[in-house]
Amino acid sequence: ARRLADRVCVITGAASGIGRATAERFLAEGARVVAADLDGERLATLEGAVPVIGDVSVAEDARRMIDTAVERFGRLDVLVANAGVIPLLDITEAEPADWDTVMAVDGRGMFLTCKYAIEAMLASGGGAIVCTSSISGVAGQARQAVYGPAKFVASGLTKHLAVEWADRGIRVNAVAPGTIETERVAAARVEPGGPEYLGEVLGAHPMGRFGTPEEVASAILFLASDEASFVTGAILPVDGGYLAR
Ligand code: NAD
Repeated sequence: ARRLADRVCVITGAASGIGRATAERFLAEGARVVAADLDGERLATLEGAVPVIGDVSVAEDARRMIDTAVERFGRLDVLVANAGVIPLLDITEAEPADWDTVMAVDGRGMFLTCKYAIEAMLASGGGAIVCTSSISGVAGQARQAVYGPAKFVASGLTKHLAVEWADRGIRVNAVAPGTIETERVAAARVEPGGPEYLGEVLGAHPMGRFGTPEEVASAILFLASDEASFVTGAILPVDGGYLAR
């Protein structure tokens, strides 16, 4: 049986990387997918999903992502709050504007999409949220002076919202991916300090490799599905053993 048959799902950051792999997996599992992203051109190549072009850090856009699901399909069952930007900066390199940008997208954007999703889920009797946190949202790492704290916001929202809404039928969980082979990581290979950073990080993954977007999508699928019916407030590492050290 398909694991998300007829479930109405909004996925943010769905044009690329982990979000795109999740959208493809959810579609294959029978979900009705609203795919939201800034990048309309790439979103248009995702067949079978309803595209919404918008910026998660802008309240009206975040609301429109959720409203689109409710207007098209009558309710919202699942939010995957995944959109994010990933600057790899130490605190001496980071400018005040870097902090503002990352907190806007990875912090405020997650807050806004979760807020409107919970309002919609309360109206339809419950649901499940999966936030994309990171190993940097659980443990300390070099070159994460800006990104890391924003990912702690994702982990924190997950726990606080899980406790607050558990008795209303809303589960809230997160995945904490290790380094995943996405375009962002490919770009980091040619950034100043990138190869050194990635080499060190690779050495800290006990499996000796980075993960794939599909491996993260599998974990997100589990948390979003009824198979995780007694799981809430969890931050599931998908990291080849990184956080186990
Ligand atoms: P990616 O760059 O491939 O995809 C991110 C997507 O988010 C892009 O399509 C981008 O257009 C979209 N996006 C960016 N800002 C947006 C905004 N303001 N509004 C709407 N959409 C926006 O990156 P990815 O690696 O797939 O990252 C997805 C999530 O996974 C992020 O939250 C990231 O922090 C997290 N993550 C990634 C890794 C990794 O190693 N790649 C590791 C841990 C966590």
